[in-house]
Amino acid sequence: MEDCIFCKIITGDMPTEVHYESEHVVAFSDINPIAPVHLLIIPKAHIASVNDFEQKDCDMIAEMFLAAKQLAANYDIAESGYKLLIRTGFNGGQEVPHVHLHLIGGAPLCEDIHPQ
Ligand code: AMP
Ligand code: ZN
Repeated sequence: MEDCIFCKIITGDMPTEVHYESEHVVAFSDINPIAPVHLLIIPKAHIASVNDFEQKDCDMIAEMFLAAKQLAANYDIAESGYKLLIRTGFNGGQEVPHVHLHLIGGAPLCEDIHPQ
């Protein structure tokens, strides 16, 4: 997809350090992190949002979550915990129309559940 910023990362037109790669997905740092660890895991194929997932995407979808698990271990946040987030559409707050799984951790992210 020509104008997609995340497709440009996949093709190398936008230089980014890739932290993880498997057959169908790659992961890189969020440019505007909201926590000490904030990575984005995306499919190599342009898929705009969860609304566009199909049965044939099952391997890719599984790889997104396995990437999250592996990266959480690599960044030593598996035990302390982390948040996985996929925003979808306008009301979901999705800004980039190439589906992405946020992996966010390294600090408490749920003050409502664990008040200070
Ligand atoms: P969302 O609001 O869920 O669509 O999240 C989009 C995320 O992409 C935001 O957290 C941005 O900081 C991040 N982002 C936008 N452009 C880039 C980029 N070139 N490299 C890395 N992260 C980006
Ligand atoms: Zn794209």
